Amino acid sequence: MTFSDLQLIGTLTEALTKKGYTTPTPIQQQSIPHILAGKDIFGCAQTGTGKTAAFALPILQLIHANGNKPKGVVKALILAPTRELALQISENFTAYGKGTNIKHAVIFGGVSQHAQVNTLRQGVDVLVATPGRLLDLMNQGYIKLNDIQYFVLDEADRMLDMGFINDIKKIITKLPVEKQTLFFSATMAPDIMKLANTLLHNPVKVNITPVSSAAELVKQSVYYVHKSDKRHLLKHIIENNNIEHALVFTRTKRGADKVVKDLVKVGIKAEAIHGNKSQGARERALNGFKNRTIRILVATDIASRGIDVDKLSHVINFEIPEQAETYVHRIGRTGRAGEEGIALSFCDKEELSYFKDISKLINKNIEVVKSHPFV
Ligand code: AMP
Repeated sequence: MTFSDLQLIGTLTEALTKKGYTTPTPIQQQSIPHILAGKDIFGCAQTGTGKTAAFALPILQLIHANGNKPKGVVKALILAPTRELALQISENFTAYGKGTNIKHAVIFGGVSQHAQVNTLRQGVDVLVATPGRLLDLMNQGYIKLNDIQYFVLDEADRMLDMGFINDIKKIITKLPVEKQTLFFSATMAPDIMKLANTLLHNPVKVNITPVSSAAELVKQSVYYVHKSDKRHLLKHIIENNNIEHALVFTRTKRGADKVVKDLVKVGIKAEAIHGNKSQGARERALNGFKNRTIRILVATDIASRGIDVDKLSHVINFEIPEQAETYVHRIGRTGRAGEEGIALSFCDKEELSYFKDISKLINKNIEVVKSHPFV
């Protein structure tokens, strides 16, 4: 199947060819025709499946077909839980929308609103936003949502985890009743279903890669190691395996800073990305990692949402997450869109029970690396 089989117009297929995408991913195949036909969607899928393009492409096409009417007002709203994900989505709109005259903007907190307000004043068709800043700018009268025709709630599960439910409810009351809604979540927990039921009308359900099988493409192994030896093991592995580019996860912000400090001390270029860093510092770190001037990016889980780096070969779990699902999200940063990836985990005595839960969730025995210098 090709993108033109999905009835996508020339400007969009050309943009996809430029990105090197030839075949639609399963979520794209299953969603795009329904979205183009005006249906609501309930998509159970996580990042890494190509879900951003699955909603961005048909939204661009529908707005384009309508001659961008009405002019200069927001017709599509995409809500995302984190700044990183919002930026990522916005980059997708930039890439795919090149040949259209559809304008989009991205707004999120933690930075001055000045530039965002200026962009909004010039008129935008598509708005990508995190809930807090959106409400803030709505309350100040800079954003009206009366003309929304397309509403996307992305990573709804993470939105609820992060406590955005009341913000979301407030935003929803400002949207027109008549609209097309696309709802994406990695899980189908009861509170997610409840929210989906209030929003969606007769939705088409698309279920891609349940969390437990998402990790199939990623080669996974675990190193049992003493807590105090983890930093030595990390250096050893990076150097011995010639790892040029890796995303390293810790559970805490302090932990992330410590790992960076230890790596820098031994001459390995590393930066941390977490909630205590300013937006500017986070973007610099992420861009440095993407353009490969930074070899190792150390992240906490929340900050890592939306990190999408082409051809990321390695994810290293310096600390094992308490929630097994988090492990799947972490390792899903590699092995994206069908590429192979490697995930290594460092597990100390206190983390054994977390690791057991992970093996249970993914229903797979993870290879144990028995010969390493810090057994
Ligand atoms: P997402 O799930 O939207 O975060 O996308 C995961 C990654 O797959 C991103 O790097 C996308 O740019 C990429 N991608 C999306 N669609 C395709 C496709 N049809 N073929 C190859 N890569 C894709």
